[in-house]
Amino acid sequence: MTQPQSAPSAASFRRRLRRGRDLVEAGVAEPEDESLIDRAGRAFPVAVTAHLADAMDCEPALARQFVPEAGELEAHPADRPDPIGDERLSPVKGIVHRYPDRVLLKPLLACPAYCRFCFRRASLGGPDALLTDAELDAALAYIEDRGEIWEVILSGGDPLMLAPGRLREIVARLSAIPHVEVIRVHTRVPVLDPARVTAALVGALDTDKAMFAVLHCNHASELNAAARAACRALIRAGIPMLAQSVFLKGVNDTQAAFEGLVRALVACRIKPYYLHHPDLVPGTAHFRPSIEEGQALMRATRGRVSGLCQPAYVLDIPGGYGKVPIGPAYLSEGAGGYVVEDWRGGTHAYAAGPRPGADAVSGGDVAEEEPT
Ligand code: SF4
Repeated sequence: MTQPQSAPSAASFRRRLRRGRDLVEAGVAEPEDESLIDRAGRAFPVAVTAHLADAMDCEPALARQFVPEAGELEAHPADRPDPIGDERLSPVKGIVHRYPDRVLLKPLLACPAYCRFCFRRASLGGPDALLTDAELDAALAYIEDRGEIWEVILSGGDPLMLAPGRLREIVARLSAIPHVEVIRVHTRVPVLDPARVTAALVGALDTDKAMFAVLHCNHASELNAAARAACRALIRAGIPMLAQSVFLKGVNDTQAAFEGLVRALVACRIKPYYLHHPDLVPGTAHFRPSIEEGQALMRATRGRVSGLCQPAYVLDIPGGYGKVPIGPAYLSEGAGGYVVEDWRGGTHAYAAGPRPGADAVSGGDVAEEEPT
């Protein structure tokens, strides 16, 4: 049985907007969209926190992420029900084991608000969202039995939706496994419902193991004063923060929006880690830019902003084959060596010395700019 004290508190759900009418009354959706929102909500729950609704007032990039649009009801031939193979790679409930040295542990499949592009939309918000005690025991036993698991990524849903006591218990039990050296918490709570980041919640993450928090954040407007304070509380507790963002049409697919996002993150002491190309989730084709557009954005960003601000642009290969960086590439083979492209688009020969199976090369017109 699910233990009542393990569930997210009622207060955390208290002021969420769930129906078309709620969103219209809050002024974040048009009256003519009320029934569309309710239809979309039957396939994937709608939830908008009061914090978000306030912030959305003057920010279309926020509304686009959380208020259903007509495109959500349309199918696309490329869509896949399990876009990155989580089901296939789940040996026990709550675990996804994709790479040899790390696993995902998903103690709770619920979030404060539901992002309309979510790649786990099929599994979120259901009645059995919380791992029971027995299921958690089995998931932890899976980790304990495999000495090669070096890192555990707490994901979901959002693990910072757990009651602090349950989160503390999970962190303590993971910390007691000798071969688990790194614990990573993936969360969107600091930007969706920052009031949940209390001293008790932050304290629940205390461990002698290496603990990292990875914030999911897609637009600078998500980092308002309350969100920044929530991130600061985590950082002041000694938890380094990284960020992952999803490359989304109408949210962060312009140079200004993307640059604003990565600069705002770094100004909060949060290192941009990944820019994910969107997964092939049913009902999300209207969010997906092309890979060429993503590469052009990354290329335009290099040199314009500090290296601290540069995430890796990655694609999760459909089917569960893992993440790979998808460019752009700055290095190609040239006569007698390589050709390297600089951030302004200039090209330069580079002779790296002998390569296996190749004759030695000499000389090269190497760029003289100082590295940034
Ligand atoms: S917070 Fe993450 S898991 Fe939750 S709906 Fe958004 S993308 Fe999905």
